[in-house]
Amino acid sequence: MQLNLLVLPGDGIGAEVTREAVRVLERVAQRFSHTLKLSEGLLGGVAIHKTGNPFPDETARLADAADATLMGAVGLPEFDNAPPSERPERGLLGLRKVLGVYANLRPVRTHKALIDSSPLKNHLVEGTDMIIVRELTGGIYYGTPRGVSGSGDGERAVNTMTYTRAEIARIARMAFHLARQRRKKLASVDKSNVLECSQLWRKVVVEVASEFPDVALEHVLVDNCAMQLVLNPKRFDVVLTENMFGDILSDEGAVLAGSIGMLPSASIGDKKPSGAWVGLYEPVHGSAPDIAGQNKANPLGAIGSVAAMLEYSFGLAREAAAVHSAVEEVLNSGRVTADLKPAGAPATTGQVGQAVCAAI
Ligand code: NAD
Repeated sequence: MQLNLLVLPGDGIGAEVTREAVRVLERVAQRFSHTLKLSEGLLGGVAIHKTGNPFPDETARLADAADATLMGAVGLPEFDNAPPSERPERGLLGLRKVLGVYANLRPVRTHKALIDSSPLKNHLVEGTDMIIVRELTGGIYYGTPRGVSGSGDGERAVNTMTYTRAEIARIARMAFHLARQRRKKLASVDKSNVLECSQLWRKVVVEVASEFPDVALEHVLVDNCAMQLVLNPKRFDVVLTENMFGDILSDEGAVLAGSIGMLPSASIGDKKPSGAWVGLYEPVHGSAPDIAGQNKANPLGAIGSVAAMLEYSFGLAREAAAVHSAVEEVLNSGRVTADLKPAGAPATTGQVGQAVCAAI
């Protein structure tokens, strides 16, 4: 298969972790006889330095031409006081919009070797393996009317939660497809006891479920879901939810795994003519200016993002599994960066990348 990718290293440790992620991808391509077609573009602070724009037109063109995009992170301290429209982070919002990625996928998987880094008791968190599927382009973050009006005691703020049947159906279908490739369990999270938006959400999810009779569907109210994620995270396989609920629950889920450097993410849109799902893959962490340039950053979130890309954009489950088991092997061997190893000599970013390649 030809894997046609755009790489956007971005700022700070973004460049360091994507270097290792690309190295892993090259190793996978070699091992499983795929061809990699890589292009590289500018995004974030580095793009502002070189072009004056955090999301140059050339990057938009390259993203449109690629089947999938791998991003590092954006953000530089020198822009901390700049207005939002001139900050590196604006480049990422522009990229998501151009790609039309409406589903955010956050895998949450605990690793045996890292179980003590979780704030939960070992027996609760061990064996957790879920994906939170969050709707990314609708709901209260985008609905209108919105704004603040009036003054004094009458000053009033309004936001609007809104969803269409089509928006719900497309994300539900994606979540059911994912569940079908996993343990065939889907929990749809809503607040249908209070919100009309959630009532429509539940109605449409039930309709879509009839296309997937092999997937077991349950409905969970969002407040109960927040509780279940810490009481019994193992019960979840695919968790489907709208934008704001997903924003909150995915950060709660993220804590289960230990270090932020471990967490991958995927944002997916519709299918390309090539048959690949449009996808933007990035570690959850930022550019970490405090450790940038020191070869200390944990590259496993970026490497996990490559595994997600293989699985979701290209349907290469065997290759993705090879990356996951290589990561597991490296974690078990103790060759990990300082964030996972408070005592003893840590491995460098490059050594972890090399170890994953060797294990593949
Ligand atoms: P951060 O995620 O960059 O760092 C938070 C802490 O976690 C730091 O102590 C850092 O050293 C550590 N850390 C993060 N990733 C790590 C890794 N891979 N290995 C080891 N340690 C790691 O968050 P922040 O400090 O709040 O933000 C720094 C910059 O990144 C800001 O400009 C922010 O806007 C930006 N940011 C970008 C994204 C993105 O590109 N998607 C996400 C979050 C923050």
